[in-house]
Amino acid sequence: MTMASWRLARSLETLTAEIRALHPGTTVWTIGDAAHRGRPSDHNPNGQNVVCAIDVLGDKGLRLADFAADLVAAPRHPALKYVIFNRRIWSVARASEGWRPYTGSNPHTTHVHISVGTGPDGKSGGPYDNTSSWGIGGDMTGLVKGIQESLKSAGFDPGPIDDRWGPRTQSAFTAAMKAGGARGPAGPAGPAGARGPAGPAGPPGTLPARLTITGEVTATGAAP
Ligand SMILES: [Zn+2]
Repeated sequence: MTMASWRLARSLETLTAEIRALHPGTTVWTIGDAAHRGRPSDHNPNGQNVVCAIDVLGDKGLRLADFAADLVAAPRHPALKYVIFNRRIWSVARASEGWRPYTGSNPHTTHVHISVGTGPDGKSGGPYDNTSSWGIGGDMTGLVKGIQESLKSAGFDPGPIDDRWGPRTQSAFTAAMKAGGARGPAGPAGPAGARGPAGPAGPPGTLPARLTITGEVTATGAAP
């Protein structure tokens, strides 16, 4: 029997592409093997023939512990359902409990499992085709531009300030490094200093000639 044609959830296509942009050739498992097909799993195609889970290996340098932590840290991807890594599971539905013990037969010590969508295993619905970025590796927009501006202000011409790392930026950067590194901009002002010592005592005052007490005095002792 052949499997009906299936596809991967688009959110997981995006995630795979982002991982492989940083770590080319990273192994990502998608559709389940025979053992998976015998039980409910997001690795099995759902009712629309969409596979809603991947397993990501660290075979090309991806640090799995950091990757798993980044996946569950806010802001999270809208398609995320749950993550399993290193004998623990974190799910959107029970986010307030954080990482919980995972006692499935596979301890997931050499790969990170990611399920997307909503609903029970193997029957994901919801936002699994959301293709917004997972933010893997962080957003580097503006980083090169900032370096170019620093180089220029330090007297090393990086060419146009265009946020692109070209040969002129590279040679300006190399020259700045050889010169001992470009000096950065001045930092913010520091906190106020410590209070100084007390001043000298003032001259003696004069006593009033006469004290007048007004109002009714009823009792001594504690105030009501
Ligand atoms: Zn898996």
